Amino acid sequence: MGNFLKDRKSKFDLLKALRLQKKETYMQREVPSRLFSQCSGCNRTFPLKEKEDNQYICPYCGGYFPMPAEQRAKSILESGYEKIIFEDKTRNPLVFDGYEEKQETMRQKTALDEGVLCFRGKIGDSPTVLCVMDSRFFMGSMGSEVGERITFAFELATEEKCPVVVFCASGGARMQEGMYSLMQMAKTSAAAKRHSDSGQLFISCLTHPTTGGVTASFASLGDIILSEPKALIGFAGPRVIAQTMGKKLPDEFQKAEFLLEKGFVDHIVERKDMKQTLSFLLKLHRKEELV
Ligand SMILES: [Zn+2]
Repeated sequence: MGNFLKDRKSKFDLLKALRLQKKETYMQREVPSRLFSQCSGCNRTFPLKEKEDNQYICPYCGGYFPMPAEQRAKSILESGYEKIIFEDKTRNPLVFDGYEEKQETMRQKTALDEGVLCFRGKIGDSPTVLCVMDSRFFMGSMGSEVGERITFAFELATEEKCPVVVFCASGGARMQEGMYSLMQMAKTSAAAKRHSDSGQLFISCLTHPTTGGVTASFASLGDIILSEPKALIGFAGPRVIAQTMGKKLPDEFQKAEFLLEKGFVDHIVERKDMKQTLSFLLKLHRKEELV
């Protein structure tokens, strides 16, 4: 009798384990990423084309997907804009093991040549230099090439007497470039200051996520700081801060809405309204029309 009960129990456990395994396999089944996209907010799947047509917004729950840099530029600038081509140069100042290969793999995977792309064109009828960071490339982290491109964009705009708009998305400094990466914070900030001293406008648009050295440099230096809804914006992660302060942090800590309340962000703009808002702000600040 004892054995019979034991057998039944082990059979039951086995069946339970099998069912669980089946469920996990079902849950983990991969969605073909070239054709379909899955929303991490509501878990629903829809054709990739639908996502692209809907400005990378989930058609079911309205959640935002990261927007590729090229598509962002296309959605903001008037047609006829120019993409600034930089000399394709692999940088590895610390001779970090495997970094060059990783850059090459990343280039092939994302069709990007770095974590930021720069453009020259018009938003509405205002000539503008636009930089768009792309979190698919090393999490949009700022290495020496990203710093160089942002600096170049500010210098070009200073020379051409036009505003700069930067869409930020970054995990912070590029780990593989150590100190060279941290130096970009001072370099980009100095370029932003020279641009500002020449009397030109800089609008910083923060998207999810903007963290680390990018938040601690040019991203926070905009004359106007806009943000997409629910974007995570901060320097260090919330866990590190909670441990350091020894306090429980508010629920919405480091979210765009929280930062708007505290005065760090000037306005939260939905993706569909971003072009119109930028166009309005740039027009409002155009000097020649006041004369
Ligand atoms: Zn969704």
